[in-house]
Amino acid sequence: MNIAVILAAGKGKRFGQAKQFVLIKDKPVIIYSLEKFNQSELIDRIVVVTTKNKVAHVQQLIKTYHLSKITDIIVGGKERQDSIFNALKILPDTGYVAIHDSARPLFNPDLIAQGFKQVKKHQACIPVLPVADTIKQVKLNKIVQTLDRADLYYAQTPQFFSLKLIKKAYHKAYQEKYYATDDAGLVERTRQKIYAITGHKQNIKITEPSDLDLIENYL
Ligand code: C5P
Repeated sequence: MNIAVILAAGKGKRFGQAKQFVLIKDKPVIIYSLEKFNQSELIDRIVVVTTKNKVAHVQQLIKTYHLSKITDIIVGGKERQDSIFNALKILPDTGYVAIHDSARPLFNPDLIAQGFKQVKKHQACIPVLPVADTIKQVKLNKIVQTLDRADLYYAQTPQFFSLKLIKKAYHKAYQEKYYATDDAGLVERTRQKIYAITGHKQNIKITEPSDLDLIENYL
């Protein structure tokens, strides 16, 4: 069983509103991701995580866009990690999951096929993209050091895991009260190696309002 968990429980503090429901070319941002997963023959089931006040809206979107594979709408938590944990609690202990930020509407659906192929071999697989800029570590307006760019990559979503592994990683994180900014960050702490596949430049995460123009241009 291959399951997709689509995250849409952010309140958009930095953005000013819940960015996953903003319209781009008359379509809510979240729908771009949901349609790709719904259309993939590799996906058996989709779980959407959102805020309590958006549940009815998501139910309406499911009808409007004929998203037949969505089986559950789960209410998220305070942090991104809490939202995913709420979804993992209702998922089976075997099979595979793709965890995706709905704020990344432009991911290439080829990633779904590549991700599930590799996760079945490696238990964990994520898309990464080499950084183009020189990255400095800065503290209190002082450069601490220059990091070696050859070793640095952006982590993207969807990220793919066996359910057994990701559940183990999440339980360990909550036992140890550890928070990471992506799911792979929790899996790394189990010492499981994570296989990297090549992400792509258009797979940006909407962070500020100007990103909407960028995405519209790409579309
Ligand atoms: O805020 P950020 O851009 O890191 O959010 C990444 C994704 O995680 C977004 O799709 C957002 O909706 C989701 N999220 C969530 N629950 C939270 C915070 C963020 O599902 N508590």
